[in-house]
Amino acid sequence: MAEDFNVKLDTAMYYTPSEECTKDSWAGDYNQRYQEFVADPAAYWEKIARELEWYEEWDQVREWNYPHAKWFTNGKLNITHNCLDRHVFNQRRNKVAIMWRGETADEERIFTYKQLYQAVCRFANGLKSLGVEKGDRVCIYMPVVPEQIIAMLACARIGAIHTVVFGGFGVAALNQRIRGVGAKVVIAADVTFRRGKAIPLKTIVEEAVVNAPSVERIVVLRRDETKPVELHPEMEVDFNDLMENQPRECAAETMDAEDPLFILFTSGTTGEPKGIVHTCGGYMVGTYYTTKYVFDVRDNDVYWCTADPGWITGHSYGVYGPLLNGATCLIAEATPDFPDNGVWWNLIEEYGVTIFYTAPTAIRMFMRVGAEWPQKYNLSSLRVLGSVGEPLNPEAFEWYYQHIGNRECPIVDTWWQTETGMHMITTMIGEPMRPGFAGKPIPGIIADVVDKDGNPVPPGTGGLLVIREPWPSMMRTIWGNDERYQKYWNTIPGCYTAADLAVKDENGYIMVIGRSDDLIVVAGHNIGTAEVESALVSHEAVAEAAVIGKPDAMKGNVIKAFVILIEGYQASEKLINELTYHVRMTLGPIAIPSEIEVVDALPKTRSGKIMRRVLKAREMGMDPGDISTLED
Ligand code: ATP
Ligand code: MG
Repeated sequence: MAEDFNVKLDTAMYYTPSEECTKDSWAGDYNQRYQEFVADPAAYWEKIARELEWYEEWDQVREWNYPHAKWFTNGKLNITHNCLDRHVFNQRRNKVAIMWRGETADEERIFTYKQLYQAVCRFANGLKSLGVEKGDRVCIYMPVVPEQIIAMLACARIGAIHTVVFGGFGVAALNQRIRGVGAKVVIAADVTFRRGKAIPLKTIVEEAVVNAPSVERIVVLRRDETKPVELHPEMEVDFNDLMENQPRECAAETMDAEDPLFILFTSGTTGEPKGIVHTCGGYMVGTYYTTKYVFDVRDNDVYWCTADPGWITGHSYGVYGPLLNGATCLIAEATPDFPDNGVWWNLIEEYGVTIFYTAPTAIRMFMRVGAEWPQKYNLSSLRVLGSVGEPLNPEAFEWYYQHIGNRECPIVDTWWQTETGMHMITTMIGEPMRPGFAGKPIPGIIADVVDKDGNPVPPGTGGLLVIREPWPSMMRTIWGNDERYQKYWNTIPGCYTAADLAVKDENGYIMVIGRSDDLIVVAGHNIGTAEVESALVSHEAVAEAAVIGKPDAMKGNVIKAFVILIEGYQASEKLINELTYHVRMTLGPIAIPSEIEVVDALPKTRSGKIMRRVLKAREMGMDPGDISTLED
């Protein structure tokens, strides 16, 4: 990395959330906890693992055969035992586990831990009756309904490996994933509801299983009881029929800590999605730990993670992490702008949500439509706010902090990846927060910003974000492509490379400034996309921005920016000049976009991340590569 990769850090501004929201948090004292970890990493993780129930204890906490790690070797467990039985056979039996809300207020379903346990056992028995066995792959292609979670947990119960595919994907993407993992069974729904319209899923499944010879059965949840879709008896079975008359108990399969739990494909923001493999023991410990300590989950909390289980956030913090902690979770099939832009705030008020976890793309959408929407609702139940998926620009942080958290709630901006399985970097509750910066590595993780040889770079200098030691919930391989896995650990000696660019401040806080693929080199200076984007978003007229580098004979590259305006602003030459001037004042002349285009929408992945490579390809008339995860 060039030496002049300097990032302009504003005078440090740290925020301190109210004591009422942070006192006595599980996080405790960050430094003390971090020291405890550093003093004896194995003992640190072992202590956490002991908070959960194992059928047999491990021989060794960590076995590190670079670049392959094993955790809790020879430990035996079942994650659903810890998500369900552990609560059902103690005082949480009648506690609400899941509250599901459809698009309208009269669509509500509630499961206590006991009810969820029984449903999972019955469906697990149903899967067994279809011949599903430990190690078989099962593809789940459903909207956000309780049955989606029941299906995931039922697979885990019997040791089948689930691959959840987001219900918004089309035929090609679904077919690719079914074939990629060799799924024996596909579990689907007839329809998903989006903005009041039923969108058929079953027809997509029918097409996607053609040329997928591994598929033996398709289980279909028929939501539309008025006109149930027809099932073809050769292959297809009804979800509820499969559960009916099944015993309400199903002994959990004894899993080895290193047995695979699931395969999940990455978002495909930077290229072809990778099939990440996570295992039972380490993943359980990592998601349990981070949900408890990063979100400070308590027994009386109402927890809402808006991510679909089709993404890692939905796996780790929509399903496994909160259930491992015995939390009460809201799940909703609701899009944030239907029937209007207040629907999410309405849900927070109605259910008394205390912990809320969402993505910058949603926050920026709400910024665009205005603060009058959240102001209509009573959000005072909120205690902790979270963000994940992209950098949370300082402007978006400010808006979230002010309008949703009433300047009282801590914001945990969590940096992590499908590959990491759990949170890696954030500002633990109680620590001062710095807008734009995710924060420091959580206790248990050693993260750094380094040059290409692995040497730490000084504060204010951009570099590559790396993790230095293995951690329990790290991916174990990429399905069918271990070579690709090894690349993560081979690019920089001794480090796991995240392929993100970052910068540290003088206190060790880390800001993610873009993807290493998207690095723009202008006249010999390296510029991260997020810096310029955040500068643009900090202008009052801009809701969202994406920048790319365009080859230029003189400068090597020039910056082109695409911006979405806040409602009420119009594109004009004057505004463009203002924006250019604004970037000059914020970052300096080197980061000025040579072109700014006002657009109505940006290309995003279905998980809501800006796909800069698509903008770049379009701009240059090139092939954009794998766009299977591009939103319509
Ligand atoms: P692909 O790997 O297929 O290109 P992806 O990287 O978007 O897709 P995910 O695993 O869903 O797939 O996303 C992880 C990435 O998201 C991180 O590497 C980082 O770039 C970004 N990210 C996640 N959380 C944050 C955060 N809090 N701040 C900044 N960036 C984040
Ligand atoms: Mg990635």
